[in-house]
Amino acid sequence: MLFQRHLNRTTPTWFACLVLSMTSAGAVADNQNSEADSEPPVPLVAQLAEDESVEDVVQSEPRHDTKNASSKAKKPATPETAKSAEAEPAAPNPKQPRKIAPNVDLKEVAPMPEPEPTPETAPTDAAPTDTATSEEPMAPEESEPGVPEAEPIPSETFSILGKEVLPGTSTRLAWSPNIQIAGLSQITPVLVVNGAHAGPTLCLTGAIHGDELNGIEIVRRAMYDLDPAKLSGQVVGVPIVNLTGFQQGTRYLPDRRDLNRYFPGRPDGTLADRIAHSLFNSVIRHCDMLVDIHTGSLKRTNLPQLRADMNDPEVAEFTKGFDRMAVVHSSGSEGMLRTAAVNAGIRAVTLEAGESLRIQEHQIKAGVNSLNSLMEKHGMISRMFVWGDPQPVYYDSLWIRAQHGGILFSEVALGDRVSEGEILGYVSDPITNEQYPIRSNANGRVIGMAVDQVVMAGFAAYHIGTEAEVPGE
Ligand SMILES: [Zn+2]
Repeated sequence: MLFQRHLNRTTPTWFACLVLSMTSAGAVADNQNSEADSEPPVPLVAQLAEDESVEDVVQSEPRHDTKNASSKAKKPATPETAKSAEAEPAAPNPKQPRKIAPNVDLKEVAPMPEPEPTPETAPTDAAPTDTATSEEPMAPEESEPGVPEAEPIPSETFSILGKEVLPGTSTRLAWSPNIQIAGLSQITPVLVVNGAHAGPTLCLTGAIHGDELNGIEIVRRAMYDLDPAKLSGQVVGVPIVNLTGFQQGTRYLPDRRDLNRYFPGRPDGTLADRIAHSLFNSVIRHCDMLVDIHTGSLKRTNLPQLRADMNDPEVAEFTKGFDRMAVVHSSGSEGMLRTAAVNAGIRAVTLEAGESLRIQEHQIKAGVNSLNSLMEKHGMISRMFVWGDPQPVYYDSLWIRAQHGGILFSEVALGDRVSEGEILGYVSDPITNEQYPIRSNANGRVIGMAVDQVVMAGFAAYHIGTEAEVPGE
C-alpha cells in the first residue's frame, strides 16, 4: 500500500499514458491485461487517496445503532496509546524558573518567534539517539474545562512550550521537533491566546498535509479575531504543522510519509514518528478540544464537514457545537491525529473544507463561522452568535466509483441533493467516444466529489452522504 502511494506522486505522466493505452487496447475495466503483468502492480487511483476522503471512510467501522450509541462503552485505547497517555504529564518542577512569554498583540505584525535553544519535548522514555537530555519536565495540563455560566473566574498562567503565557495575553511561540533536516532545524510557529477568564483549551491545527491551504487561513482568521481580555480559556493554533510540505506544495513529510498516520508518534521511530511524538507531547496534550483542519486530497473537494467517530458519545456530543456543519461518521484510522487525541481523552474532530492547493473563500468562511460557534457554545467567547440550523446534520456515507477509465465530467455540484439512480456525471472515453454514466446508488447529498479530470476504473468520484439519526436521541 505504501509503495503504491509513493508511486502516484511521481508518475502523473505514465498514469495518463496508461489510461490511454488501456483505453486503446479496449481493456479499460480490466486490470489483468498484459501491461499489468510486466509492470509493477498498477495502482488504482482510488487506492492512493489516503486522506479521510476515501479509504478511511470506506473502511470506517459502521456507526452503531443510534439507540445504543450513548450506552456503548468507549472503545479501549491500544496498550501503547494508553500507556503514553498515563505517562503524561509530569509534575512541574517548582525550582525550575519558567520563561514568561512576551505579550504579542496578534493583530499587529511582529517578528517570528525565537527558536528554543533546548528541546522542549523531553521524551518520556529515553530515545537511543537523543544525547541532549532536558531536565525540564513536561508542562502540566493547566486548564480544567470551565464553567461558562457563573461569574467569570480569572484565568491562570498557561504553560506550554517551555513558556508561561500570562492571563489576558496572546503570544507567538515556537515548536521544534528538534530534528534536523539537511542540517537545518525547522521552527514551527504556534499562536497562543490565554484568555483573562478560566475556560477550556481549544487547539486548532492546519496543514498537517502541507498542500491543504484552507485550514491555514481558517486558523489565522479564528485566532486573530480573539480578544484575550474577553476570552475564557485558551486557544492554541498551529496554522502550518507540516512546514516543509507547505514550502514544497506537497501533503507529505520530507521522507514521503503522511504525518497524519503516525500519531501519537514515537521518540525513536521514523521521522514521521518523531515529529508526531513531539507535536503530540509539546502541544496536543495541552488541549481539551482539538479541531484538525484538512481538505480533500487528490483533486477531490469536500463540502465543509466534520469527520467524527460518532460511536464515541463524547465526540458525538462535541459535534453539536459546530454551526451549519455536515457531520460524517468516520471511526478514523490508526495514527490519525484525531484518533490519537480521542484515545488520550481529548475531544477531537477533523474539519474538512474544500480542495487542496487552493484558497477558497466560501469554505474558509464556513470553517471560521463554525469555530466561532464552537467557542461560543463552550462559553469561551460571547458574540451573540446567530446560529444557522439548530442542529448539525448527520450522515452516513458511501463512495461511488468510476467503473471505466476516461475523462470525468460531472453533472452535479458539491452540496447537491441527489436521488438513487440519478446520473452524477459521465466518464468519456477519448478514443472510442463512449460515454459511461455514473449513477447514484442512494438518496442523499453530494458531500465530496472529484473535480473533472482523467480517471481510471475504480476511482472514487462521488461521496454521497445519507442522512442519519442524531446519535443518542
Ligand atoms: Zn489532509
